[in-house]
Amino acid sequence: MHYDVIVAGAGAGGAVTAVRASEDSSLSVLLLEAGPHYATASQTPADLLNGNENSYFAHDWGYEATANVAGRVVPLPAGQVVGGSSAVNTAIALRGAPEDYDEWASLGNDEWSWEKVLPYFRRLERDLDFDNEFHGQDGPIPVRRHTEAELVPVQAAFVRAMRALGYEETPDNNHPQSAGLGFHPMNKLDGRRMSVAICYVEPARKRPNLSIKGECLVRRIVTDGSRATGVEVETSGGSEVITGDRIVLACGAIGSPAVLMRSGIGPAAHLRELDIDVVADLPGVGENLDDHPMLGVTFAAKDGLLKRNDPVVQSTYRYTSTGGQERNDMQLMPVSQLATRSGRLVYAIGTVIYRQKSRGRLTLQSADPHVPPRIDERFLKADEDVRRLVAGVRLGLEIGSHPEFEHLSDGVKAPDTAVILDDDALADWCRSLASSGFHPSCTAKMAPAGDPMGVVDQHLRVRGFDNLFVADASVMPNCPRANIHLTSVMIGERAGEWIREGVV
Ligand SMILES: Cc1cc2nc3c(=O)[nH]c(=O)nc-3n(C[C@H](O)[C@H](O)[C@H](O)COP(=O)(O)OP(=O)(O)OC[C@H]3O[C@@H](n4cnc5c(N)ncnc54)[C@H](O)[C@@H]3O)c2cc1C
Repeated sequence: MHYDVIVAGAGAGGAVTAVRASEDSSLSVLLLEAGPHYATASQTPADLLNGNENSYFAHDWGYEATANVAGRVVPLPAGQVVGGSSAVNTAIALRGAPEDYDEWASLGNDEWSWEKVLPYFRRLERDLDFDNEFHGQDGPIPVRRHTEAELVPVQAAFVRAMRALGYEETPDNNHPQSAGLGFHPMNKLDGRRMSVAICYVEPARKRPNLSIKGECLVRRIVTDGSRATGVEVETSGGSEVITGDRIVLACGAIGSPAVLMRSGIGPAAHLRELDIDVVADLPGVGENLDDHPMLGVTFAAKDGLLKRNDPVVQSTYRYTSTGGQERNDMQLMPVSQLATRSGRLVYAIGTVIYRQKSRGRLTLQSADPHVPPRIDERFLKADEDVRRLVAGVRLGLEIGSHPEFEHLSDGVKAPDTAVILDDDALADWCRSLASSGFHPSCTAKMAPAGDPMGVVDQHLRVRGFDNLFVADASVMPNCPRANIHLTSVMIGERAGEWIREGVV
């Protein structure tokens, strides 16, 4: 079977690309996914529907990453199902700041300025709280904020403590100029995660020109000179090559660079080490790994006050670090409940660096698609990241020690007092424990021809190829200062439109 468009990977970027491209009924579109396809919400397992908790195990790739400069190895969750990480995530629906996209444009990608991307952020959403020039009312993804009355004890105490201390507040965290304390916009309705599987794929699944194939692993892209001719896939029935006119890779910031490298597209020296024939020497593939390093101060709670299904997040405080050059480069986020190894629930105040200076890298361990890539995040390599995380952890300690938490708190569990009292020890604690906020990105970045580390051009076309594209979190030049699900959906919106309209 031959298709006009093949989209490999059915996550936030890929599912949206395929659904928007297939709005042109004359285009045959195939959407491929390694994980299962649950056609309707009623057939979808509970872990994917429960928006109060992440799904970590049943639909996960099982990746591990070396998180930080101290070499700590941690699980790096990533959804393996139609919907991708959109189907397992925390359902925080934040946009980046206008400066993030204007920076992409200033790096030579003028298609991605704030002015150009705002219509797509509006198009993807149905904001149930705000109806103004910044928000959409007709898009597939419903977005709402928890109300004050819905706050669980940890969140309510956080909000009250911040208010008592006089921190600024914002009614809408997705307003372009917002900063400060506010309720998270979330793509969650009545506790149900509104993933791209539910919001985009389910309503489109009966289109005669859209085929969706789950449990189908993409091994590599097949190329002939400057053209991609098909994808080699593996199913329970064996391996085959499916051919297509335009091929869009959307396997996420871990999967897409891995597929590119297995296809011979990547840093030549690294590919040769693994006996992979070099098709295109693109040194940027797998480099520039960005993410949001995060670390929480944890607190023991008095008996019976935390509940296992309490929504994990509801409120947030976005702020600019002292001496920081970028607005809202940091975030403080209370986590309502976390289970310890003993099963006892604790709570945390997490500090997130939204604009880190450090960058990591992703390489292959093997040409075998069943062997996961090597993921090296290198968090806190840059001293400025250490400084900001230490200050953020101190802020979390201050807020968590406010009298508004007295009825809840049974004391700080980590870090211990000796560490808190010693700046150097606290810096070491951060270096050894900083971990991922689950936003790996930027591993196949878009850039103009003059940047040797660019992988795709601003229309997402892989350098050196006429008809091969990447449309997911890997193409971001830098990670925005917000959780990146909505930005990944926005990328899919644009890629799908460009294909549908024949722009690419
Ligand atoms: C636990 C968790 C919580 C998160 N919480 C939030 C949040 O609250 N808010 C937020 O904004 N962001 C959150 N994120 C991040 C966000 O969900 C992702 O950044 C976003 O989904 C990235 O979109 P993507 O298209 O790049 O990748 P994905 O959505 O991960 O999609 C990639 C798809 O490709 C498939 N795939 C990969 N390799 C292959 C292959 N070889 N063959 C076939 N298919 C393949 C995968 O199975 C997956 O379906 C979270 C992520 C995780 C894991």
